[in-house]
Amino acid sequence: MRIIIITSLILLFSITPSIAEPANKKATSPVAIVLHGGAGTILKKNMTPELEQQYKDKLKEALTAGYQVLIKQGSSTDAIKKTISIMENSPLFNAGKGAVFTHDGKNSLDASIMVGKDLSAGAVAGVETIKNPILLADKVRTNSVHVMMAGKGAENFAKANDIEQVDPQYFYTERRWKSLQKALKKDAEQAQIPTDEANNFKFGTVGAVALDQNGVISAGTSTGGMTNKRYGRVGDSPIIGAGTYANQNCGVSATGHGEYFIRAAVTHDICALVDYKSLSIQDAADLVIHDKLKKMGGDGGVIGLDAEGNIMMSFNTKGMYRASIDSQGKVTIKIYQD
Ligand code: ASP
Repeated sequence: MRIIIITSLILLFSITPSIAEPANKKATSPVAIVLHGGAGTILKKNMTPELEQQYKDKLKEALTAGYQVLIKQGSSTDAIKKTISIMENSPLFNAGKGAVFTHDGKNSLDASIMVGKDLSAGAVAGVETIKNPILLADKVRTNSVHVMMAGKGAENFAKANDIEQVDPQYFYTERRWKSLQKALKKDAEQAQIPTDEANNFKFGTVGAVALDQNGVISAGTSTGGMTNKRYGRVGDSPIIGAGTYANQNCGVSATGHGEYFIRAAVTHDICALVDYKSLSIQDAADLVIHDKLKKMGGDGGVIGLDAEGNIMMSFNTKGMYRASIDSQGKVTIKIYQD
């Protein structure tokens, strides 16, 4: 009997530390958030002061909403879902409401999300009725055994999981329709089927990466893809490791010419440089965006952060809509190359 009591006591003391120290011991981690609203030929001379203000206001609104989630001890996943949904609901960006048109005059949306602590991920491609594709991507992550769903199947999954669906007309915006007409006219003038759709694409994808109080990094990206895309083309945004990646040390979201981002495995490459080569996330991103990608001929940019809350922004285009709140609470909102 005595032996049993002593053994039980030893056992109790040996497990006590793990009871006293919950898994989220890092409840004191600094919080930080960074977002992008697309990269490309964004020049001040082509922008009216009013439009510039509209972009800055929307970036600030999306950023602040995500940050509020983080400071109220919400998860980084909830923060980026909030941030990205706000941008998806705005006609300013090429995602959700402001998505570009396909060659056939439709809007075909892609999105993905990844959580660094357990490498869980969800993605959707080619959906046409989902108001907020980022929310569906997260449902794929949490409510299915899959990582990626496409087209009608993804929409059926949305129906079964109470994800808001809209009439495809919801995605119509005059500005994006005009871009398609311009692209189609250009095709007709050239009297050929474009093999390289690069001439016709406009950036404007949205993405966000956040670090929460538990030290968890999440990253997400949402897009309408490229104007005049055809044949069910899918870009990098819903591809884990290309458009979106997160692990315990690093999270990245990309925007740019998707075909190059897929072939360069951009977001995973950056995190691999952080992990295996101990590069800072900024140096890692600069290497991939300004060297590797540029040499391949790929245009675009990335945003991200590391486990300390260091913010990274890198792009090889004229501009990138971008904003962040770092671990010290410093707010940055920028558009051009400065
Ligand atoms: N990366 C997106 C795609 O290729 C486009 C963009 O970022 O604007 O679909």
